Amino acid sequence: MKKRLYAVIGLGRFGGSICKELSREGMEVLALDQDEEKVNEFKEIASHAVIADSTDELALKDLGFRNIDHVIVAIGDNVHASILTTLILKELGIDKITVKAQNDYHEKVLNKIGADEVVHPERDMGKRIAHSIISSNILDYLELSDEHSVVEVKAGDKMDGKTLVDLDIRARYGCNIVAIKRGKDINVSPMADDVIHGEDILIVIGSDKDIHRFEKDLVIED
Ligand code: ATP
Repeated sequence: MKKRLYAVIGLGRFGGSICKELSREGMEVLALDQDEEKVNEFKEIASHAVIADSTDELALKDLGFRNIDHVIVAIGDNVHASILTTLILKELGIDKITVKAQNDYHEKVLNKIGADEVVHPERDMGKRIAHSIISSNILDYLELSDEHSVVEVKAGDKMDGKTLVDLDIRARYGCNIVAIKRGKDINVSPMADDVIHGEDILIVIGSDKDIHRFEKDLVIED
């Protein structure tokens, strides 16, 4: 099978860490930034590291961007450059374009011009941290849509020793426990009579409203 080719445009903290991780996983990565110092940092890390302005269509063509399968646009501050770069990449027919958005307006524009994936790492991390601040039993939080999420919570004292039937979470709160992690084991199809231990980690899916009620009653310590 042909090896997938990646390019990371913008080698700030976000783009830089994507570039490092892809390279560490043995992927072929072209690292690009207009700042020579940044590019020098990645010479030994990425397969290729080049200085260029990504809003220069000819430069991207000359660098052979047409052959890249997946481009990650990690230009944060300069929204104009990020949008223009995305448009050029679309025109070059890149198979998959992931773009880091700076704000909601930027995200909307990126979706409109056909970015395949828009990520908002600061906002998402802020939400995750806020949930863990509310309760140390809320371990992780993943937004599925504007209204639905998956949360990972420690069962804690309130659920310790109870079965899923006892807790009746689906009927009482409208959300579902889709998996129970106990140490290294993970039970992905929990049964109604499975007993929950306080140290178990529960993966719960549902609407934000329902998850919020579930957390308030059963997860957050009194
Ligand atoms: P992060 O929050 O990920 O650390 P940052 O705030 O440090 O990002 P940004 O200004 O958002 O940095 O830009 C990330 C990188 O993108 C910078 O290294 C910058 O030089 C590069 N960059 C910005 N515009 C262009 C462009 N038109 N072409 C190539 N690289 C660019």
